[in-house]
Amino acid sequence: MSDQKRGILTIISGFSGAGKGTVVGRLLEKYPERYKLSISATTRSPRNGEEHGVHYFFKSDEEFQQMIENDAFLEYAQYVEHSYGTPRQYVEENLAAGYDVILEIEQQGAFAVKKAVPEAILIFLTPPTIEELERRLRNRKTESDDVIASRLAQACAEAAHVDQYDYIVINDEVEHCVDAVNRLIETEHQRTQFN
Ligand code: 5GP
Repeated sequence: MSDQKRGILTIISGFSGAGKGTVVGRLLEKYPERYKLSISATTRSPRNGEEHGVHYFFKSDEEFQQMIENDAFLEYAQYVEHSYGTPRQYVEENLAAGYDVILEIEQQGAFAVKKAVPEAILIFLTPPTIEELERRLRNRKTESDDVIASRLAQACAEAAHVDQYDYIVINDEVEHCVDAVNRLIETEHQRTQFN
């Protein structure tokens, strides 16, 4: 039997357009031996360049519902018009194997995970200003004006709950942000090493 220490679960949440995907991608690239990213299931269609099993597991409404019934999700939530969920098995297996697992999810799901797993680190990632957020959403050129407007409205609603996060990290520059997140997780390892 191995006495492998359990990994730490980190939830990166925050506005759509905050740069969560970029920051998490860079974190995994820098420390591939340490971090594992949970790949979510979603009912939305793939964007250009997105691949099934790499960016998301793309599911029909019926398939998603079946996963809910099978208790296959650690959490799931509705975001704007679609459902998103974190498959439970991958997260549990990798934490048990000693990896630090990262979830990149929206606020409702983030709070549900924090409630179910209180030792998880809950991080709110935000762009420096709302103007910068709008600029990033428009620069992606993947969503219509209507979708951008819903996502900005959603962002304002989410901003009201930032006090429920363990940490707020401002994404002004990707490398600084990645280092800040990595340091928070390392510090948590040091804090809990004798548990
Ligand atoms: P997008 O459609 O831009 O890929 O994602 C929309 C939002 O859903 C983002 O804030 C993203 O972090 C969040 N999201 C992605 N996967 C999950 C998930 O498994 N659960 C929850 N609750 N949110 C998710």
